[in-house]
Amino acid sequence: MIKANYEELVKRIAELANVSVDEIKKRVEEKRARLSGLISAEGAAQLVAAELGVSFENQRFKIAQLLIGMKKVNVVGKVIEVYPIKKYIRGGQENEIASFLLADETASIKVVVWDTNIIEKIKNKEIKENCVVEIKNADVRGTTAKELHLGSRASIELSDEKIEKVVLEEFLPEKKLCDVNAGERINVRAFVVQAFQPAFFSVCPECGLRISYENDKAVCVKHGTVVPEKRALLSMIIDDGTDNLRAIAFHEVICKILKISKEDILKLQESDFWLDKKSELLGTEMIFSGRVRKNVLFDRLEFVIENAREVDVEKLIEKLSKNL
Ligand SMILES: [Zn+2]
Repeated sequence: MIKANYEELVKRIAELANVSVDEIKKRVEEKRARLSGLISAEGAAQLVAAELGVSFENQRFKIAQLLIGMKKVNVVGKVIEVYPIKKYIRGGQENEIASFLLADETASIKVVVWDTNIIEKIKNKEIKENCVVEIKNADVRGTTAKELHLGSRASIELSDEKIEKVVLEEFLPEKKLCDVNAGERINVRAFVVQAFQPAFFSVCPECGLRISYENDKAVCVKHGTVVPEKRALLSMIIDDGTDNLRAIAFHEVICKILKISKEDILKLQESDFWLDKKSELLGTEMIFSGRVRKNVLFDRLEFVIENAREVDVEKLIEKLSKNL
């Protein structure tokens, strides 16, 4: 997917700049070499595009191809979920901000709407869940997660296009462990090389916050006395050949990693059950999605896993053979 997007982007830049694809690739590699590989191929391609005077304005993109910093781009997608409208105050005036999740065949993205006319369309349900829309003049913003921002020059119209199979996953860049930085949300393909028996802690069933005990009663700061829920925390070391990293996963994600049901989570407290699962887990290669954060206490980076899936070997072979 990454590869395909990069190729597509390079092709697009080459066409718009009227230069050969090889020339663009050469410039991208030069740029990356000069920046000591600190920049992704896509990021370098954007810089090359800017140097060549290429703009992506009014170009149509698939959601997975959108890159932070692109301006005035066009996208067609299906509205998956409309989120509640929020209010904010600027200059003493109350304003509204709308948002929804948009998806196409390649990925999903959060759309943030500032334009009052478009917010009106969402309020009166002209734009609602399951409709396919064409968005024009939108900007791609964000620090880690990409967002599509619709300001006053943006427009949105219902579209007749059919989008059969939407991909609901957010598109995250794939990275090597030696290249990760705190704050990034990424995909990593790595082996589990060590795993520690999960720790359990109690949370409020209403809000998920940790509870404290007063006179043997479980108390949530927000919800008072509650019947606590036990949550598990799994800590592992993952390795992709370039480096290793401490990775942690919570409750539901642990089920995906260990391939167990939610009912079996508490059984991880039993040594036999855990050792059994651990021996199956060690040496497994998976694609982990999540967020890199700095653990201040231990002064090290760690990876908070939000999703995990096994490497689809057949898909991988297909991808590799295409790149030959
Ligand atoms: Zn609570």
